[in-house]
Amino acid sequence: MNLLERFLKYVSIDTTSNSKKQNSPTSNGQIKLAKLLVNELKEIGMDDIYYDEKHCYVYAHLLGDKRFPKIGFISHMDTSEDVSGVNIQPKVINNYDGKDIILNNGIVLSTKMYPEIIKQKGKTIITTDGTTLLGADDKCGIAEIMSMLEFVSSSDIKHGDIYIAFTPDEEIGLTIKNFDFDYFKVDYAYTVDGSALGQIKYENFNGATIDIDIKGFATHLGYAKGIMINAARIATLINSYVPNELPENTDGSNGFYYLKSIEGNLTSAHLKYYIRDFDKSNFELRKKELINIVNKINKEYNNCARISIEDTFCNMYEYVSKHHNLIENTLNAIKKVGVKPLIEKIRGATDGSDISEKGIPCPNLGTGAYNHHSIFEYASLNEMKKTVEILISIIKESTKKND
Ligand SMILES: [Zn+2]
Repeated sequence: MNLLERFLKYVSIDTTSNSKKQNSPTSNGQIKLAKLLVNELKEIGMDDIYYDEKHCYVYAHLLGDKRFPKIGFISHMDTSEDVSGVNIQPKVINNYDGKDIILNNGIVLSTKMYPEIIKQKGKTIITTDGTTLLGADDKCGIAEIMSMLEFVSSSDIKHGDIYIAFTPDEEIGLTIKNFDFDYFKVDYAYTVDGSALGQIKYENFNGATIDIDIKGFATHLGYAKGIMINAARIATLINSYVPNELPENTDGSNGFYYLKSIEGNLTSAHLKYYIRDFDKSNFELRKKELINIVNKINKEYNNCARISIEDTFCNMYEYVSKHHNLIENTLNAIKKVGVKPLIEKIRGATDGSDISEKGIPCPNLGTGAYNHHSIFEYASLNEMKKTVEILISIIKESTKKND
């Protein structure tokens, strides 16, 4: 089976995850895809295939030479619930002319809105019919890993143990919860879940959730002077003190405060913030800033506010950057197949950060898929093929220098 056939087969299965459910798998389609992948892994001749039926994870490994590092590759089987993934009708466009693409019902994938698509001129791209997402996020990653495995298992290239994991419910943040780290004993791994060809990302935001509860004090409105504490008004006051560094006015390396919700009345109010920053010390300063605001309010308004802070994810950079050989080998591997490496920061979270925190440095690689979570999602077959070459090149490079 070639790469395109694999990809089309995987996207034909609706694997939309469902955030209303708490436990993986949150949809039956993911089970269907997992079973299909298990059969394909058997056909490829992988060793020790392990299907965690309860949680719907597919693991396998290809035994290799113990002198070389053990490498893992991870992709997710689910697609985002933001856009329908039912009855996906992919359109394969050979020799793309670089112009606007008319999907069904007159919906236009416009080069003005998505100018990077012009780079695909003359190439083969796969789009949606304008009614669903494509599922290239992350079935491109799965198809690429499968094609890499098929090649490596039938060739005589030198390699160490190669592990793979296809995970459920990544889009709703459940991947790590049931991930079997006892099985996945690798020296380092990659999530194959990025976008443009040649991307390597190993820096993401530190994230924390902050809850501020305010208790008001009710009195007769006519006789409230000096006594009443209006919790709702204090909530708006707190927000007015928060620095003006917001998602809507920051980009690049800058972090932000995000007011997720504000609700309240006279007697109680609640504010929820997300804070995000690449830099650990700035991240801590942001927390301190909110604590200081609450302290100031408490001094003025009879200790009416309580703040609680929960760290939610960390920047994987501090774990990955120590492994100089890993980064260097990956960059070399990308260059060796004639692709320019694109080192980019993730202005969000990634499973790789949790995996890195658990001791497995885990950068994210591009897959040749664009406009994730959208009816304008598309994949470049040429970039997908090249990504398979990158994965193989990473394995070859790992046998040259140990991390
Ligand atoms: Zn993804």
